Amino acid sequence: MPQENIFEKSIKYVKGVGEARAKLLSKLGICTVNDALNYFPRDYQDRTILKKIAELQDGEECGVRASLISDVAESRPRRNLSIIKTMASDGTAFLSLTWFNQSYIKNNLKNGVEYIFFGKVKRTGMRLEMNNPVIETAGQFGKNTGRILPIYSLTKGLTQNHMRKLTENSLKLAGDKFEETLPQDIRESFNLSQINYSYNEIHFPKSLSNMEEARRRLVFEELLLLQLGLLKSKGVSTQQKGIKFKPVDMSPVLDKLTFKLTSAQQRVFEEIRDDMVSTKRMNRLIQGDVGSGKTIIAVMAIYLAAKNKYQSAFMVPTEILAEQHFRSVEPLLEQFGIKVRLLTGSTKKKEKEEIKNLIKEGTIDVLIGTHAILEDDTEFYKLGLVITDEQHRFGVRQRAKLSIKGENPDLIVMTATPIPRTLSLVLYGDLDVSIIDELPPERKPIDTYAVNESFRERVYNFIRKNVAEGRQAYIVCPLVEDSEQIEAESAEGLVERIRDNELKNLKVGLIHGKMKGAEKEKVMRGFVNGQLDVLVSTTVIEVGVNVPNASLMVIENAERFGLSQLHQLRGRVGRGKYKSYCILFNQSKSDISKQRMDIMTNTNDGFVISEKDLELRGPGDVFGVRQHGLPELKIANLYRDMEILKDVQKAVKLIIHGNLLLTDARYKPLDEKLDKMLKEKFKDISMN
Ligand code: ADP
Ligand code: MG
Repeated sequence: MPQENIFEKSIKYVKGVGEARAKLLSKLGICTVNDALNYFPRDYQDRTILKKIAELQDGEECGVRASLISDVAESRPRRNLSIIKTMASDGTAFLSLTWFNQSYIKNNLKNGVEYIFFGKVKRTGMRLEMNNPVIETAGQFGKNTGRILPIYSLTKGLTQNHMRKLTENSLKLAGDKFEETLPQDIRESFNLSQINYSYNEIHFPKSLSNMEEARRRLVFEELLLLQLGLLKSKGVSTQQKGIKFKPVDMSPVLDKLTFKLTSAQQRVFEEIRDDMVSTKRMNRLIQGDVGSGKTIIAVMAIYLAAKNKYQSAFMVPTEILAEQHFRSVEPLLEQFGIKVRLLTGSTKKKEKEEIKNLIKEGTIDVLIGTHAILEDDTEFYKLGLVITDEQHRFGVRQRAKLSIKGENPDLIVMTATPIPRTLSLVLYGDLDVSIIDELPPERKPIDTYAVNESFRERVYNFIRKNVAEGRQAYIVCPLVEDSEQIEAESAEGLVERIRDNELKNLKVGLIHGKMKGAEKEKVMRGFVNGQLDVLVSTTVIEVGVNVPNASLMVIENAERFGLSQLHQLRGRVGRGKYKSYCILFNQSKSDISKQRMDIMTNTNDGFVISEKDLELRGPGDVFGVRQHGLPELKIANLYRDMEILKDVQKAVKLIIHGNLLLTDARYKPLDEKLDKMLKEKFKDISMN
C-alpha cells in the first residue's frame, strides 16, 4: 500500500490554517505542506544576544535581562492612542520602556520582577530607551527571546507569527519523514548536512552557523537539481569523443585581415584550436559583448576545419543576420578556395535543391543559414564543425539536432549576452566557456544620457540633426499598442504621432513582434538599405542586426527594461565609423531606476552591467533566472553562491561521468526528484 504522503497534503491540514488563511498563503505560492517547508526565511532576527544595559548602542537590536523599578503607568493622550511607560534596571544603568496601543501589556508586568526585553535601542546622550520591546519573564527565556527567529516575506493579512506557527507545525507534521535526496557519498565529499537537520535549522536555527550549514546544503541541492535537470533535458552528454583535427597554419587568414586580433581573441581562438586538435569533442560557448569580434573567430575555426577537409555549418537566428554573416564571411574564405553558400527560408526552391545536392557531395564547404539548415533532408558529406550564433537565445534543442547530422562534429555556441559567470555555468553547464572580454582598440564608447520628459523636443531635434547628416536612428518602445492598464509609450502610438508632427519630413518605419515574419523582414530590410531614416520598434530589434549607419538609439520608458536588455539595445548603434549616442527616457523617479540609469550612463562594459543587474535584483533573485527560462530559485542566490556552485559542478561531473543516476541505487531518490522537477518546471526550456 502506498504510504500516505504528508508533504503533498493541503496546507489546511496544518494546525491553525483555515479557509481564510489558506487563501492568503496561496498568494505566496504555498498550497501544500511541502510548499510551506520550502518557503524559506528571507532573514533572521538573532534574539540570543543579551547585554548589560550600560553597553547598549544606539540603533542595535538586542535583549536585556532587567527588573522593573517603577510601576507601570498608562496614559491616553488621544482617543485611539494608549501609551504604557515604565523603567527597568539591571544594576548597570536604567532603561525606559514604552509600548503604544498595547494596553494589555500592563497586566503582564509587575514592579520588582525580572524580565527579558528585546527590541531596538534608542540612545540619546545618557538616556536609553526601547519602544515596543518583546517581553518574556526571565523563566521563559528561549521562547520568544533567547533564540534566532526566522523572518519571512509576507503578504497583507499575514504576520511573522502566523508564518512561524505555520512552519513550526509543518515541521512537526514532517517529523523525520523527509526523504534524503543526496546520497551519503556526495554529502560526505562536499560536507553537506542531512536533510531533516537542514529543514529544521533553516527555519529555526539553534545558531547562525547551524543556519549557514543548513542553507549550504539546501542551496547545493537546488543548484544540483537545476544543473542535472538542464543536462537531462538537453540530452547532451558531457564527455564524448570527437574529431581530431590536424593543426593548421593560420597565418594566411591573419595576413588578409586589416586589423590585428585583440589578445582576448587570440586567447579564445587558442582555446578553440586546442579543443579541435584533441580527441575530445569541442563543446564551447564563446561569450563576447556586441562588437567584440566573434565572427572572425568563427571564420578561423571554419578555415581550420576546411583545411582538414571537413565541412562547417554556421547557424543564426534571423535571415537578415544570415545574409550579413554571409556577406562578411564569404569574400574572406573564398580567397582560399573555400566554398560558402547561404541557405535560408526565402532561398528559392530550385536553388535550395542545388545547394542541398552540393552539400551532400561535399562541393560546398560552408553553409551559412537560419534554422532551415536543420531541415531533415539537408545531408552533409562530412560535417566537422557546427557554429550557432544564438545572440541571446537559448536554442538548446536546435543545437542538439544539428549536431547529429555529422559524426560528433565540434560545437561552438556564440552569444552576445554577457552574463555573469555563475549564470553561464548554470545555463550552459554542459559547455566550456571562453570569454572575449576586450573590445578592439579605437572602438568609441556610445555616449549615453538618461533624460526626463522635458528633453523630448531636444531629442527630436537631435534625431533630425543626425538624419540630416546622413545617419539613421532607432526608437524603441516597451509596448506594441496603447494600453489601458500600462502607462507607457507604444510603438504604434508613437509612430502615428511623430509621422504627423515632430518627424514629419523623415521616413519613419514601424516594426514589432505582432507583425508577420515576412512583413518584419521587409521593414528591417528597408532600414538596412537606408530607405528608412528612423525605425520605431519594440524589442524585436534586439537580436543582432547590423546597421553601421545607425548612430542613435532612443529608448522610451527605459525604466521598464532590464539592464542587460538596455545594453543589448544600445549595442545596435556604434557599429560603424560614426560617433554614436543612446538616449534613455526615464519616466520613473525611484532610486532603483536612477541607479540603473547611472550604470548605463557610466559604463559600456556588458559584463559589468550584467553583474550589476544581478546584484540590483538582490538576494532571492528570481527574474535574472526566469528571464532565461529556468525555474525560479527558492533559496540559491546566483550572485552570492558562486562557491557552492563550483562544488555543485564537481558533483555533476562525478554523477554524469559515472552514469550514477542510472546505475547506482543510492542515487535513485535524486533521480526521481529530478524527473518530477523536469515534468513540472522545465516546460519552457524543453520546448525551445
Ligand atoms: P560581434 O562580436 O558583435 O559578432 P563582429 O565579429 O561582427 O562582432 O565584429 C565587429 C566588427 O569589428 C567587424 O567589423 C569586425 O571586422 C571588426 N573587428 C573584429 N575584430 C577586430 C579587431 N581585433 N580589431 C579591429 N576590428 C575588429
Ligand atoms: Mg556577431
